Amino acid sequence: SSFLASRLDRIKPSPTIAVSTKARELRAAGKDVIGLGAGEPDFDTPDHIKEAAKAAMDRGDTKYTAVDGTPELKQAICQKFERDNGLSYKPENISVATGGKQVLFNALFATIEEGDEVVIPAPFWVSYPDMVLLCGGEPVAVPCSQDAGFKLRAEDLDNAITKNTKWVILNSPSNPSGAAYSKDEMQAITDVLKKHEHVWVLTDDMYEKLVYDGFEFCTPAQIEPTLFDRTLTMNGVSKAYAMTGWRIGYAGGPTQLIKAMAKIQSQSTSSPSSISQAAAVEALNGPQDFIASNNEVFRQRRDLVVEKLNQCPGLTCSKPEGAFYVYPSCAGVIGLKTPQGNRLQSDGDFVTYLLEEANVACVQGEAFGLSPYFRISYATSTEALEEACKRIRQACEQLS
Ligand code: PLP
Repeated sequence: SSFLASRLDRIKPSPTIAVSTKARELRAAGKDVIGLGAGEPDFDTPDHIKEAAKAAMDRGDTKYTAVDGTPELKQAICQKFERDNGLSYKPENISVATGGKQVLFNALFATIEEGDEVVIPAPFWVSYPDMVLLCGGEPVAVPCSQDAGFKLRAEDLDNAITKNTKWVILNSPSNPSGAAYSKDEMQAITDVLKKHEHVWVLTDDMYEKLVYDGFEFCTPAQIEPTLFDRTLTMNGVSKAYAMTGWRIGYAGGPTQLIKAMAKIQSQSTSSPSSISQAAAVEALNGPQDFIASNNEVFRQRRDLVVEKLNQCPGLTCSKPEGAFYVYPSCAGVIGLKTPQGNRLQSDGDFVTYLLEEANVACVQGEAFGLSPYFRISYATSTEALEEACKRIRQACEQLS
């Protein structure tokens, strides 16, 4: 018998991290690889946030803090929820952890029993199903078509819910599709959730601030206040404030759940970094104007990438509302032959072809639960994106 626990057999290593690793290896071997796999802004953390971290160190904020967040940060998070989302959470409703990822893990680990189902619209962020599996639950993927803007349809949600459903996970704007729900679209979803009183809502609002063309973000408990007592509203500073390495995520929710999450954290990692928490206070309370200027850059890159990808034979790319990803269909290249004579049978074959022939690293849609598609992150320089799109086009043109 194996020394390693059998629960490990249920999950796989993060496929997005695998692509970044492969790209790094090829680069180390001297290949000029353009990485479009990474899920982080290429901007640096703003200076005022870094200064707040330095000040925290100088004042001696270098010790353990309260397990699930300092009072200052919880206060700043309550104000953020009130200001941006019209949600009235109190400090005892707030949990702070080492990244949004730990918030999600704590919430699922605190609630999922063997056999519990979690409804996950596909394409989904890669970690949701694997976290559910690690906790002994059953992920229930619900495909969302490109025609529907990769958004969950109310009737499909209704059909996916059973008496065993514990959570529905929503993620708007979405990683990997960039799709975001308008107020009317969200209302259609929350109308269904309202009927199913045993189902809890886990909303991953990580990309809230990254929306374009005047799109107005909304979150379920804001649209349907009766859901407030069974919703965990998760968010973080990683993406909006270019703070992926600082590892601070947070959530607002019912105290019973928040306390359970703190109990798990108290026996696993304890508090998130004291210095990062001080920086996050400044991120939330400080000037927000750089977000609009970053977003203008992201919007231009999105428009560029969508236009160029639609010029590639065999690819079709929708224009998403937010985040920094596009999720083009590669249905038109499946079945075609590469110059080496290999037939492309899946989106996995296609991204391998792009990596080896075009030196462009993307992630196959299979990893996100909806094929045949692939994900491109446009959080990289405009020059690199232009070059990457040119290479992808040439690679598509060489297929027969
Ligand atoms: N949720 C989504 C949808 C994400 O894309 C990510 C990061 O890639 C996370 C959560 C995790 O965020 P963090 O880096 O704060 O753990």
